[in-house]
Amino acid sequence: MLKQVKRIKQNKLQAAGVLYFVLLTAFISALLLGNALINPAFAASSHPLFLLDCKILFLSDSVKTVFYFNQQPHITPVESNNRLEFILDFPRCDFLLKTYKESVKDELINGVLIFKTERATRILIRQLQMTQTRIMQGYDKARKNFYVSVLFYRPYERYSKYEARLSEINEYKKRGVPIVLIDAGHGGKDPGAKSVYGDIEKNLNLKFARRITNNINSTGLCRAYLSRAGDQFLSLGRRVFLANQYGADAFISIHFNANKSKKVRGFEIYYLSSGTASDKASEILANIENSAEFIDENIAGEQDYQVQSILLDLKEKENIKESAILSTIIIDQVSKIEAYPSSPPKQANFAVLRNLNMPSILIEAGYLSNHDDISFLRSGFNFEEICARIAIGIINYLSPGKSADCSIVKNIAAKPPAAEKIPLKAAKPAAKNIKKIEYIVKKGDTLSKIAKKFNINLKKLMDINNKTTAGGVIFPGEVLVISGER
Ligand SMILES: [Zn+2]
Repeated sequence: MLKQVKRIKQNKLQAAGVLYFVLLTAFISALLLGNALINPAFAASSHPLFLLDCKILFLSDSVKTVFYFNQQPHITPVESNNRLEFILDFPRCDFLLKTYKESVKDELINGVLIFKTERATRILIRQLQMTQTRIMQGYDKARKNFYVSVLFYRPYERYSKYEARLSEINEYKKRGVPIVLIDAGHGGKDPGAKSVYGDIEKNLNLKFARRITNNINSTGLCRAYLSRAGDQFLSLGRRVFLANQYGADAFISIHFNANKSKKVRGFEIYYLSSGTASDKASEILANIENSAEFIDENIAGEQDYQVQSILLDLKEKENIKESAILSTIIIDQVSKIEAYPSSPPKQANFAVLRNLNMPSILIEAGYLSNHDDISFLRSGFNFEEICARIAIGIINYLSPGKSADCSIVKNIAAKPPAAEKIPLKAAKPAAKNIKKIEYIVKKGDTLSKIAKKFNINLKKLMDINNKTTAGGVIFPGEVLVISGER
């Protein structure tokens, strides 16, 4: 991860720091003395609120501007006539510099401006193009500061397309059609789990997510959207953001699992736990799936500004309860596939399920580390049946009692029983054009001697043959690959 951190010009920052303490004391004594030293607009509180600092992070999925405060500020978004101006006001918040201006070199924003208006401190961020923006807030324990961050997400499609989708969703909502976001886990630089047979989780996730989405949309009973339709990297926060923006009635994240034990297999569903995970394995899994979170600096415990007012304790509990029902309905469907084991829903603290305003689940549709699971999933019949059953489960949850006549239900009924087995071969990566040359090790040979003999790089020879020490560990009679793939 490469990140650049830009701060308020250092000298100004230090000056502001010193001034902050001096002025804070002055403010408090002024208040005690009843002195009118302070701007009356800011004097309402006995603990003056200050915007202290700002930093800009250039992340792979976004540009994140962060504003630090000594107390939790109140946020007031301000509409500008210019769509490319992003404005937030912090009422009754003071700022010790007259104005602060930072120019930025990025495709998304080109400057941050902070200044005081009559009643507030205002931040104005100049965008170079319209993009999805998200406001977050939280508490930075290390700095002991509250903060508000504004994320400008890097586009992977035209903004007009996104806007068109939002208004399309609005139309569906008006007609009472439930909306579901199908999220293909991982993507781009984050491949997820891999199997020894060459399957990469991010690709499988997308393949399944697409099929489930098409299944649901073919019925007209619900409307499904994909979080990513291609091989893009989306931070976990952005998936949450999209589900909330779309006002989805359910959020389904599709994944495949892997385990050190090659015996572990089957279909699993997880939903958020407000406390501890169901078991140790679920906790470990949540930690693995959460790692993408850190690729994009999404701090745990951070709150989505648009959601937090709605996501009261009660709402969260209600969502967890609903997620359990949704999980059970889908498991009931999938458990009808005899040859494919599934287990009761489990709970763990998945980042991609936090901050969501709707029932949300994470499906681990199988184990890439298990031979039988992969063999099963590679069959076209089985793939179709699992995707159909997940789709039916979602529809049964969102539009109870309506799915019986859908074509996907009929398709399953018309299908021959599953259990088609596909023989597997371990993956052979590309490079098919290179002719394979092998050499049988003779007494007295060393890796470096062999490398010299064939005029190839020693490191390459070691790599092809999975050798870690140049010193030897080769045996007479052993077959070494000299060129081509092993
Ligand atoms: Zn995953």
